[in-house]
Amino acid sequence: MLSGATFSITTFGCQMNKHDSERVSGMLQELGMRPVETIPEADVTVFMTCCVREKADERLMGQVASMKNIPLRPASRFSKRYVCIGGCIGQRDGAALLDSLPHVDLVFGTHNLDELPHLLQEVVEEETRQASIIDGRSDFHDALPESREQAWAAWLPITVGCNNFCTYCVVPYVRGREISRPFEEIEAQARSYVSEGVKEITLLGQNVNSYGRDLYGTPRFDEVLDAVSASGVERIRFATSHPKDLSDAVIERFATLENLMPALHLPVQSGSDAILEAMNRRYTAAHYLSLIEKLRQVRPDIALSTDIIVGFPGETEEDFLRTCEIVREVGYTQVFTFIYSKRAGTPADEMEDNTPREVILERFERLRALVEEGALAANKAYEGHLARVLFEGEAKKGSGVAMGKSEHGLTVHVQTESDEAVQALAGKILPVQIDESKTWYLRGSLIS
Ligand code: SF4
Repeated sequence: MLSGATFSITTFGCQMNKHDSERVSGMLQELGMRPVETIPEADVTVFMTCCVREKADERLMGQVASMKNIPLRPASRFSKRYVCIGGCIGQRDGAALLDSLPHVDLVFGTHNLDELPHLLQEVVEEETRQASIIDGRSDFHDALPESREQAWAAWLPITVGCNNFCTYCVVPYVRGREISRPFEEIEAQARSYVSEGVKEITLLGQNVNSYGRDLYGTPRFDEVLDAVSASGVERIRFATSHPKDLSDAVIERFATLENLMPALHLPVQSGSDAILEAMNRRYTAAHYLSLIEKLRQVRPDIALSTDIIVGFPGETEEDFLRTCEIVREVGYTQVFTFIYSKRAGTPADEMEDNTPREVILERFERLRALVEEGALAANKAYEGHLARVLFEGEAKKGSGVAMGKSEHGLTVHVQTESDEAVQALAGKILPVQIDESKTWYLRGSLIS
């Protein structure tokens, strides 16, 4: 019944959600459905949701609510437009979403993605609405078809879930406890990606550094890096990395594995030990800085990025200044800054929070200015140097500017003579001379 129907997927949140969306796309294509770019062209719209921050929650509700006003696509053979909600909000709110959003037909969670095809078929064939959520699973579950956004780049999940319970975070509640994927499966998946022509593999997990603790009693992420490196893939990246679990063995791999890219996202969250403790991060600012020192010893050119939360309950001006110090000291190429967002059910939600909103906003602005200044200074160091860029596509539709990522994970723009030239570059790794640095990207020219 669904064969020939069209679908669109709107994804919020992290890379894990983006990968889940690729799997949703793969499963729906196996039903004979056809992916389309926009919601109005789709018979079925799937929202892959994120509940980590309040804003994403609100944006989802706004977008789903507006679906009521979108007419059926002219060629549709259905009497209605089907709306599905998956991902973390689906997992968290379940059937309550069917009550609050009467035009939503199907809600599924993070642990039963594989059930989507038959749930959707039931909804369409039996003209029902349903919510299907399961509490968790005991095994790693990734044997699902996927349709990758880019043929040359693949996400490779090695863990799901998280055991860390940072006090502000809902992930352990909606994604469950950490489950590692069997080592041999990761090795086989990496080799299979390489045989398909994949050039860049990004290993995924809420905390890749603790990979294997549940299966083997001890973390084995360094060995995963060795195995994926041996697959011969040209580029390896990974996300996300918890500082408390970043081992010397993993740091060493930045010196020894040629295909491990010299870029690391290492979320610091705060530079204040008191706030780190309140966040249950289980490291100090001094420990974090010692990791940065070790990383720079083994790989002096490593590019570092991070996440920072401003306005965590109880954050004083002094705490905030410590965060600014760490930003200055590390010299990040990129910092993702967030204003603390209360999440129901987390320990931080119960913490006393009497910092006025305007003080938090003012700190956020100060940090933003500092981050921009730091990113511009860090990018300046690349001017006049060669970068090897994996091209992804066009920077802006119709601009003729090709966009890609350097080995350091920085966005590089190259002006070409036409859109066709941009398309011809996509998926290729080529040398680029960096001519100019901007705050968030570099400009360069191709070396012929
Ligand atoms: S490590 Fe902390 S912030 Fe990251 S997913 Fe786990 S609980 Fe959330």
